[in-house]
Amino acid sequence: MEKVLVIGACGQIGSELTLALRGVYGTDAVIATDINKPEDELAEGPFFMLNILQKKDLLQLIEKHEITQIYLLAAILSAKGEANPRTTWELNMEGLLNVLEYARNSSVKKVFWPSSIAVFGSLTPKVAAPQDTIMNPDTVYGISKLAGERLCEYYFEKFKVDVRSLRFPGLIGYKSRPGGGTTDFAVDIFHKALKEKTYECFLAENTLLPMMYMDDAVRATLELMDADSKKVKVRSSYNISAMSFSPAELFREINRYRPDFTITYKPDFRQKIADNWPNSIDDTQARKDWAWEHQYGLTDMVKTMLSNLEKNLINL
Ligand code: NAD
Repeated sequence: MEKVLVIGACGQIGSELTLALRGVYGTDAVIATDINKPEDELAEGPFFMLNILQKKDLLQLIEKHEITQIYLLAAILSAKGEANPRTTWELNMEGLLNVLEYARNSSVKKVFWPSSIAVFGSLTPKVAAPQDTIMNPDTVYGISKLAGERLCEYYFEKFKVDVRSLRFPGLIGYKSRPGGGTTDFAVDIFHKALKEKTYECFLAENTLLPMMYMDDAVRATLELMDADSKKVKVRSSYNISAMSFSPAELFREINRYRPDFTITYKPDFRQKIADNWPNSIDDTQARKDWAWEHQYGLTDMVKTMLSNLEKNLINL
């Protein structure tokens, strides 16, 4: 029987992935943890406060609950990370090392750890960034993710730790707000469109970036973790892709449903981060190895986001 531990469960991905995991393994089999308290549906299952940097607490949880799978989501993201590089490095690296070390000699059979398109940089091909390519990240977040990818492959090769990873693009969902990344505009814009009818975007209008709807990201995670180990040929992190759009393209799509919505552009420090990331990602290897397929493009994503947020207008 699987016993799953989610670390950083209250964040943008965790609050949706934890519920999806509970749907698969049963509510009681999925333990959510975070340094913040959970809200809504997440609080309906097992939850413990856990700071991933407190090694002893992590080990105690693994041993007490005989954990078989860990999903490590606790991290400081690209934009937030620039305000405090050292703390970002410590959380992102120490957190991963703590989990990989315990996965070597415990009941833990599989680990999921997300990487990011932030591993790419100005020398990476802009269009269809390949799986294996030049990587020169220039944020502390991107540097920590690239180092993390190398650690994952190292622990797999050297200690046979079954760790699996995806290089997520910007993620968009309606259930939770983003946690300080460079693609946060793609969620914020919906809330502003519905509430204030105007949005000041922190990226320039033609900044083209890879993006994914949250349902696809959650499904990709479940499918990768469920895949036969022999099929998981990439042990650093898989490129994964769904759509690319600019703030202007996203605005035009929302504007079709909300004609009174307006936008202005005031690029800030996040523009430089975005300018060094690819416009699009080549995910052929993920499609070949474990049959990855995205479902949501721009049109479907916008329609779904608007209709779900409209239902919850009262909470906006
Ligand atoms: P988030 O910031 O929304 O959530 C992170 C969670 O970790 C928060 O709930 C936070 O309270 C918790 N946390 C912070 N410090 C902690 C600590 N010391 N111990 C335990 N928990 C702690 O982030 P997210 O968007 O859900 O991202 C999750 C993972 O996915 C991260 O590794 C991130 O780099 C990666 N990722 C996210 C995106 C995206 O668009 N959201 C894109 C690419 C990769």
